Amino acid sequence: MESAKVVLYPSPGIGHLVSMVELGKLINTRHPSLSVTILIIPAPFETGSTDECITSVSVSTPAITFHHLPAIALPPDFSSEFIDLAFGLPELYNPTVHNTLAAISETSTIKAVILDFFSNAAFRVSKLGLKIPTYYFYTSGASGLCSFLYFTTIHKTTTKSFKDVDIFFDIPGVPPIHSSDMPSDMFDRETNSYKNFIDTSANMAKSSGIIANSFAGLEERAVKALRDGNCIPDGPTPPIYLIGPLIAGGNQVDPNENECLRWLNSQPAKSVVFLCFGSMGVFKKPQLKEMAIGLEKSRLRFLWVVRNPPPEDENERTSSAKDFSLEDILPQGFLARTVDKGLVVKNWAPQPAILSHDSVGGFVSHCGWNSSLEAVVAGVPMVAWPLYAEQKMNKVYLVQEIKVALSLKMSTEGFVTAEAVEETVKVLMQGEQGAVVRQRVSQMSKRAKATLEDGGSSRVEFNKLTESWGNI
Ligand code: UDP
Repeated sequence: MESAKVVLYPSPGIGHLVSMVELGKLINTRHPSLSVTILIIPAPFETGSTDECITSVSVSTPAITFHHLPAIALPPDFSSEFIDLAFGLPELYNPTVHNTLAAISETSTIKAVILDFFSNAAFRVSKLGLKIPTYYFYTSGASGLCSFLYFTTIHKTTTKSFKDVDIFFDIPGVPPIHSSDMPSDMFDRETNSYKNFIDTSANMAKSSGIIANSFAGLEERAVKALRDGNCIPDGPTPPIYLIGPLIAGGNQVDPNENECLRWLNSQPAKSVVFLCFGSMGVFKKPQLKEMAIGLEKSRLRFLWVVRNPPPEDENERTSSAKDFSLEDILPQGFLARTVDKGLVVKNWAPQPAILSHDSVGGFVSHCGWNSSLEAVVAGVPMVAWPLYAEQKMNKVYLVQEIKVALSLKMSTEGFVTAEAVEETVKVLMQGEQGAVVRQRVSQMSKRAKATLEDGGSSRVEFNKLTESWGNI
C-alpha cells in the first residue's frame, strides 16, 4: 500500500519556519501513519536560528523529513530586498518543487500540500498543475487573516496606494486600521511586493483551506467575521482552521547552560522586563541610547537582546554584523551602572524559555505574531513596539482588540524617547493599566492551554482539517 504524506512548504525565516514545523509535529503525533516532508529552500537573507530548529526536530521527530532543495543561482538583476526574495525565490523554485512533488507522488499519496503565504508561487504547481489539495498556513492570527483576505476587496474599491491616502479602513472583524499602519511592503500598489500580496490573497480564497496560528478564544470577533464569510464578500470563503497556538516550547534549552536563564534564576518573581525584537529587529545607535537611558531611569530589572545597529553608511561596516562590542553602542558606563539590575545579551536569546520563566513580568515586543503568541501562552503582558512587516497592524489587534499589550508613544518615523520608554515600562510593571493587561493576558493564557486539550476548539478544528484529507 502506498504511504500517505503531507508536504509542508514554509518560508525559510525562523518566524515562518518555527510554527510550520510545529504543525508538522502535531500532524505526525496525532497521525503517525502520515509522514511529513518539509521543503527547505536555501535563503540568501537572515533567517535566525533555523539550523538549530531543523537539527533539534530531526533528532526529536525522525518521522519528519527535511527535504533541502538545491541552491539556485539568482539572476544577476534579482532584487536583494527581503520581501522580493521571500516571494521571488519560491517563483524560481517552481520547476524544482514540481519535480519534487511529482517524484514523491510516485511512492506516496500526497494528501495535502500546505504553503506558507510567501510560497504562494507554488500554488500554480501543486493545486493548478498537479491537482493536489493545497492549503495555506497563515503564520499570523485570525485578525491578520481578516485583513489579508480583505486586501483584494480594498484593492478593487480604490485606485490609490496606501502611501497616498490618510484614512482608516473598515475591515470586517478588526478595529479600523489607518493607511499608515498597513504592511509597509504594501504601501505602493505599483510594486512587485504589493502585487504578490494581492495575488496571494486571491489564491488563498481559492485554496482547499486556510490554517491560521491562533485560537477562537483569543480573537472572537475576527473568527466570527471569517466564519460569516465577511472577509471575502464577493465569493465563497474556504474552510478556515484555527488550530493554534503553535509555538516552539522553551524546554529544549538547558537552564544551567544558558546565560539568560541562569541570570533569571537569581531574580525575584515577575520582576524582569524582557526586551526582544524578533529575528530581524535592529535599531540605530541613537534609538539604542534612548532605550538604555529609559531602562536605567526606570530602575526596573531588565533582560535586553541587542543587535549591532546598521552602519550610517553601508561601507563603514568593517566587522560582521553579529560581531560587535556592546560598550561601543550603548551609553558610556551603562553596563557597569546597571550590572545589578540588568543583563544585555547580543543578537539572540532563547525567547520561549525566557517568556515562560517565572522571573519575567513584562515583554517589550516588536509584535511579530510568534512572539505575541509566546507571550500570551506564558501569560506575559506586552508593550507594543512594531518595527516592520505587518507589525503595526498586529499592534492594533494586540492593544485595541485582544487587549494584552500597552501602546508606546512614538514619532511618525517610529522614534521613541527615553522618557517614553521609562514611563511605559513602569506602567507595564507597576501601573494600573499594566495590571489590567496582566489580568487579561493571564485569562488568555488559560484559554490557550484549554484550547489545546482534547475537546478544546483548536483540537476540534485540527481534527476537522485532517478529516478533510479522507482516510488516513
Ligand atoms: N526569537 C528568539 N530569540 C530572539 C529573537 C527571536 O528565540 O532573540 C524567536 C521568537 O521566540 C519567535 C521567532 O524567533 O519564535 C520570531 O518570530 P516572530 O513572528 O515573533 O517575528 P519575526 O522574526 O518573524 O519578525
